[in-house]
Amino acid sequence: MSKIKIAELFYSIQGEGRYMGVPSVFLRTFGCNFKCSGFGMPRGEVSHEATDIATTHKMIESFQKYEDLPLVSTGCDSYASWHPDFKELSPMLTSEAIVERIMEIIPHNGWKDEHLVITGGEPLLGWQRAYPDLLSHPKMAGLKEITFETNGTQKLTDEFKDYLVQWQMPNIDFSREITFSVSAKLPCSGEAWEEAILPEVVCEYEEYGTAYLKFVIATEQDFADAECAIAAYRTAGFKGHIYLMPVGGVESVYALNNRRVADLAMKNGLRYSDRLQVPLFKNEWGT
Ligand code: SF4
Repeated sequence: MSKIKIAELFYSIQGEGRYMGVPSVFLRTFGCNFKCSGFGMPRGEVSHEATDIATTHKMIESFQKYEDLPLVSTGCDSYASWHPDFKELSPMLTSEAIVERIMEIIPHNGWKDEHLVITGGEPLLGWQRAYPDLLSHPKMAGLKEITFETNGTQKLTDEFKDYLVQWQMPNIDFSREITFSVSAKLPCSGEAWEEAILPEVVCEYEEYGTAYLKFVIATEQDFADAECAIAAYRTAGFKGHIYLMPVGGVESVYALNNRRVADLAMKNGLRYSDRLQVPLFKNEWGT
């Protein structure tokens, strides 16, 4: 039976992108190929918040549970889902155990109008091999919509493509809507352009579901970078929608620029994505 290392598994409202406002089960896998330590920092500087928390944790083992970890205002707001110093807080669970946990956290008997968000970390790393087993479980049969929240750098494996394609067959009596929510990382993340902006990878997602791009914006320079990235994706043949989303895992940062980013989106004919989890739930773990 397949296993997945799970950083978080919780029930909440999707706060971003296409399914904003939809009740959702969030499955946060452990591991990421990036660090994104530039978020919220002056350009060229990196955040040390996660590293400082890790240092304290290593010295006095101060955090027993994932939910005990402090939130950060700079760098990746999901740092504990990939930082090696917190990996023991993320258990390796079988598909059966994950499904049982999902059934416990849905507050009624089975799936209704919920959708499943498989996020990270980066959920399209090695865990692709485990998803068919998980998603084919009989208790997942009522699930009709799934989103993979990805940074858009991981190719789909041939095995996973073979699995996904079955849901697009017109004669199948059981179909699922697959979405790839691609948060492509601009230079403000601290990641290198050549490693983060991979249009051919994202174009392939469109063959197996609906894909859209989401760019996190804080400054005019970020928007200029987003425009260059959009041009590169369109040139490669990407057809999906494009969202601009304000930076800010904490309300003080988010509230500084959400209106400005919404205005930028309108002015340029792009979609705006909020981060509803920030004003609604303060972006606490498990929301
Ligand atoms: S890609 Fe996402 S999860 Fe990975 S470091 Fe960047 S923001 Fe964090």
